[in-house]
Amino acid sequence: MPTLAQVTRELLIAHNRYPRKDLGQHFLIDPKVVERIIAAAGLTRDDLVLEIGSGLGVVTAELAQHVYQLVAVEIDKELLGISREVLKPYPNISFVGQDILKVDLAGLTLGRKYKVVGNLPYYITAPIIDKLLTAQEKPELAVLMTQKEVAERMAAKPGSKSYGSFSVFCQFYAAVKIESLVSKSSFLPWPEVSSAIVSLTPHPQPLFPGLDEQKFLKIVHTAFQQRRKKLSTSLDELKLGETSIDLNRRPETLSVEEFALLARHFA
Ligand code: SAM
Repeated sequence: MPTLAQVTRELLIAHNRYPRKDLGQHFLIDPKVVERIIAAAGLTRDDLVLEIGSGLGVVTAELAQHVYQLVAVEIDKELLGISREVLKPYPNISFVGQDILKVDLAGLTLGRKYKVVGNLPYYITAPIIDKLLTAQEKPELAVLMTQKEVAERMAAKPGSKSYGSFSVFCQFYAAVKIESLVSKSSFLPWPEVSSAIVSLTPHPQPLFPGLDEQKFLKIVHTAFQQRRKKLSTSLDELKLGETSIDLNRRPETLSVEEFALLARHFA
C-alpha cells in the first residue's frame, strides 16, 4: 500500500501542481494524525460531516470510510477536480467548490445534525471559527487542525499568557479541548509553525440564558483592546452601571462567567 505521502506526491507530480502557499496548502501525510482526528471526532456511520479544505481528497478518503455522508468544501477548483477523481470510489461524498466563508452552512447540511472536520487553511482560522460558532445551525462538534499557538489561545484559562478575547469568544460558545500536538513533519510541504488538533463542542444551550451576545462581545473586545489596563479605564466609554466585579482588575484575570456578569450591567 502506498503511503499518504507517496499518494500526495504522485498526485501533485501527475497534475503538475505545486501547493499554493497563499491558500494555506499543507497536505496532511501522517496516517497516525488522521487516525487521531477520526478518533477525536468520534466518527460513526450515522454522521454527516462537513470537511473544510478537502484539498487533494487524500484525507477525505479516510474520513469518508467512517461516515454516512461527507460534504467536501474546497476553494481551489483544480484541487477539487483532482479530488473528484481520487474519490470516485466513495458515493457518499458531495463536492462544493466554494469559499468556506461564503457557503450557507444550513443549506449544505439541510438542517441536519452535523460535525465539522478540517485541516484548516491557517490564514483564515479565526473567521472560520467565528462562522461555525455563531451559525444559526452550529455543528455538534468541530475537530480542527490549527496553528499550535491559536489552539492554545482558544483553550487558555484566565491569568495565562495566551488568554485573550479569542479565548473568551470560543469558550462563550463552546467547550474547547486541545486533543494533541502535531509536528511540522506531518505535512507536505512543512508549515512554518507547529500545529494542534483542537475540538470545539458548541454548548447545546446558551451558557448564560437571556444575555445579549452583542453586548457581551462588545465588552470583551473593548476590555482586551487595552490588555494591560484596568477595566475601569478601558471600559470607561461604555458607562457601566453598578457591578460586583472589581473594576481595578485587568481583563486577562476575568473568567467568561465574570465577563457575562459585567455584560448584564451594561446598559
Ligand atoms: N484537507 C487537505 C489535507 O489535509 O491534506 C488539505 C488541507 S490544507 C491545510 C487547506 C485546504 O484549504 C487547501 O486545500 C486549500 O486550498 C483550502 N482552502 C483555502 N482557503 C479556503 C477557503 N476560503 N475555502 C475553502 N477551502 C479553502
